[in-house]
Amino acid sequence: MKAIIFGAPGAGKGTYASRLQAKLGVDVIAMGDIFRELIKEDSELGRKVKGYVEKGVLVPDDVVVEVLKQHLSKISKGKGFILDGYPRTLDQAKTLDAITKIDVILLLNVPDWIIIERLSTRRICRNCGTVYNTRFLKPKVEGVCDKCGGPLYQRSDDTIEVIKKRLSVYQEQTKPLLEFYKKKQIPFIVSNATALETPPEPMVEQLLAGLKQLKLA
Ligand code: ADP
Ligand code: ZN
Repeated sequence: MKAIIFGAPGAGKGTYASRLQAKLGVDVIAMGDIFRELIKEDSELGRKVKGYVEKGVLVPDDVVVEVLKQHLSKISKGKGFILDGYPRTLDQAKTLDAITKIDVILLLNVPDWIIIERLSTRRICRNCGTVYNTRFLKPKVEGVCDKCGGPLYQRSDDTIEVIKKRLSVYQEQTKPLLEFYKKKQIPFIVSNATALETPPEPMVEQLLAGLKQLKLA
């Protein structure tokens, strides 16, 4: 299965992709995570990427495409994958199209008000990456990961101002890609969130059921 998980920032792409990874044994390429690792390295490339990510705007396509190619080449032949956070522009989609054929788009529809509420209260384990929320997905002990005891932190781009910027970048540059994939007649599996506290499990089950119907899982 070669899938793209698609949705606005904060729609839950990372959460669902990692659960599907555990259930299906596919690889996940998460662009945002890759960039955050690069930023930590304090290299020239890391410093360049940091400027974009902190403002909530897109990293230039040439950099993104190079990073994608590196990571795709590491996936063993025949193994499935989920792309999270790629493609985000039409040029990125066209580049991908020239490299490989995508089987399915997993589309997460989440209204803006839920996204703003979720992202502004999101906390992440520095150690294992598990995602929490200070309002409705609280850890047992404040600031401490249930799974590994690691410290929780807030992403520097999860501030109201930068969240709004990321949402407008999604509307303007990324959402139009849905038309590109519809025209290509790639199948879509759509998951709709309507409540703030919708837990991930039923959404993941819904995506899995869709994948089974398409004989991709
Ligand atoms: P979210 O989907 O919650 O906004 P990500 O972790 O996927 O967060 O991405 C964080 C940031 O990394 C983006 O705001 C952007 O600056 C950069 N980024 C990630 N993927 C891409 C991409 N495909 N093209 C350009 N920039 C990207
Ligand atoms: Zn942890």
